[in-house]
Amino acid sequence: MEIKENLSVIKENINKACRQAGRNPEEVRLVAVTKYVTADRAEEAIEAGIIHLGENRDEGLAEKYERIGNKAVWHFIGSLQSRKVKHVIDKVSYIHSLDRLSLAKEIDKRAEAPVQCFVQVNTSGEVSKHGIKPEETISFIKACSEYPAIQIAGLMTMAPSTDDTSTIRRTFQRLKELKEEIQGLGLDHAPCTELSMGMSSDYMIAIEEGATFIRIGSSLVG
Ligand SMILES: *Cc1c(COP(=O)(O)O)cnc(C)c1O
Repeated sequence: MEIKENLSVIKENINKACRQAGRNPEEVRLVAVTKYVTADRAEEAIEAGIIHLGENRDEGLAEKYERIGNKAVWHFIGSLQSRKVKHVIDKVSYIHSLDRLSLAKEIDKRAEAPVQCFVQVNTSGEVSKHGIKPEETISFIKACSEYPAIQIAGLMTMAPSTDDTSTIRRTFQRLKELKEEIQGLGLDHAPCTELSMGMSSDYMIAIEEGATFIRIGSSLVG
């Protein structure tokens, strides 16, 4: 499918979910996840009007960045090994997968300017999923204040692998509650205004529950 056609379907769905939830569609930013596709295809996404691109491996990011550069705003969405930080830090505007202090320390060491980070929270409790336990998130975020380059833009989660939409919805609600609790702390390094949640199969639920960044791969770029 042409990206343009996929994009218009997704935009319609974003509008529909926003109407449902009484939200402004402009609050929802679409990150096109290009991890499965070529640099040509990623460039096609930019030509279709997409601004945000997401990659989950340093090699994929490097390949596409070389082609597209600053025509996109880059997001790193996958689990990030500390030794790879130096390869991604100069390219990305957002890291969606901050999940340990050793990573915060490495980002702080390598960054030349503050980096917008999402703390990845394991709201589903699935052992296969990365992320901090919900009950440990606040103490983790407080501990990040030791690293001046770490800005906590918000929280990120992945829905559990289930078809049960009420379970998926609950994990998104849990992330939103946690985000609001952290916002309420008024921490300088953690405005925590954003929610990165929702992928191809569940982004409408995520938008209804407050997502401000949705990360879509297969149903957008293939
Ligand atoms: C692959 C991936 C996505 C996109 O998944 P699709 O189901 O293809 O939309 C979103 N977020 C993360 C963290 C991913 O790894």
